[in-house]
Amino acid sequence: MLLAAGCGAFDSEPPVIAFDRDFDAVGRSPAMELTVSDADSPLQGVRVVLTQDEQEVVLVDDAFDDPALQTVSYDLGGLIADTFQPQEGPARLTVTASDDSAGNNEGAASRDFRFDLYPPELQLLSPLLYINQGGSANVLYRVSDDADVSGVQVGPHFFPGFPAEVPGDEDARFALFAVAYDLPADTPVMLVARDVVGNESLTRVSNRVSPRAIRERDIHVDDDFLRKVVPEIMSRTREIRDQGSLVDTYVEINSRLRELNHARIRELSAASGGEFLWEGGFLQLSNSQVEALFADRRTYYYDGEPIDRQDHVGFDLSVVARYPIEAANSGRVVLAEYFGIYGNAVIIDHGAGLMSLYGHMSSIDVGPDQNVERGQILGRSGETGLAGGDHLHFGLFLHGVPVNPIEWWDPRWIEDHVLDPFDIAAPAPQQLSEAVQ
Ligand SMILES: [Zn+2]
Repeated sequence: MLLAAGCGAFDSEPPVIAFDRDFDAVGRSPAMELTVSDADSPLQGVRVVLTQDEQEVVLVDDAFDDPALQTVSYDLGGLIADTFQPQEGPARLTVTASDDSAGNNEGAASRDFRFDLYPPELQLLSPLLYINQGGSANVLYRVSDDADVSGVQVGPHFFPGFPAEVPGDEDARFALFAVAYDLPADTPVMLVARDVVGNESLTRVSNRVSPRAIRERDIHVDDDFLRKVVPEIMSRTREIRDQGSLVDTYVEINSRLRELNHARIRELSAASGGEFLWEGGFLQLSNSQVEALFADRRTYYYDGEPIDRQDHVGFDLSVVARYPIEAANSGRVVLAEYFGIYGNAVIIDHGAGLMSLYGHMSSIDVGPDQNVERGQILGRSGETGLAGGDHLHFGLFLHGVPVNPIEWWDPRWIEDHVLDPFDIAAPAPQQLSEAVQ
């Protein structure tokens, strides 16, 4: 504070007028707060006027008679939404405030800004898609350049779009997205475009999600298993504390550490760029036997009592001990370290939010930021982390949402569902503007 407090009647500073944020453009009901405060005198009055063309509305006209009142705040966004009929275009807010000092100091401020009321233009270029619960899809669309963000929203999960290489069409975008295996099959799958002030366009992407049968599996854990996995994971994981018994610590690992590991995968996805780093079908580990399927719902028992329930978001594949682990496709290594329930693990970013995870390895031969080829050896299989025996845990994630690898192991599925959508002949831009009028 610049002025010494306690000047009383000789206060020479007017009230301070402050908005909670800078704004050049706002939507129909902006989130915006105004605070008026005076350092040493009570406030006497505050007046806020909003003008646009011929329209002038007094949002606030307060006179105070409270010797203790030196600060007031207003929800300007709410007042605008309740009392003003905004038009697209420029507007001005004028604020005046006076204090109760001898000089009745008056402060004034005004802000020029735009009301932006129209959402971005959004056009679905792909036909309506059929998607499997737990499965992936690719959608092609076009969005106007006033969009700040666009992509596909499926329940709580957002899958951002990236520029699509469609000749002569700079507004074309694509988004790889998934309907998570644990979302209801009737969850709406919506294309979304939002501008900086929050105006939003929505378009339905899919009419039907094919439900997937859930496989229930019982897992019995015994003391031998707990003694094998719990001390190792604890010794290498800061986040997990001893819960007083092996079985309680195991449940903490199986539930909370599992969630922390998956949160980290979501974080890593944020850095995935829009370029496909892969080519051709994804490889299932050569010569491997499937030991456990994607999204098995597991109930864990100890001493005959259920102690936990978790979903297995990948495939367990086994060959022989210390089998060389092949990269399912080309990409960039984003994690190569001891990684909680997955033990020694490698995560490869394949671009556009798609990542593959290799868990329980005995050794790792690659490092972070390394580019790897399809089939390149990443290390050897093992039983680190939450593993009872030597096997590979293979997981695929789209922006952190686990997806069924079966689709990506099938080159025909990739052709039909990931690559073919790019071949849709896009209408010329003039046709678009006619279509949205
Ligand atoms: Zn597994």
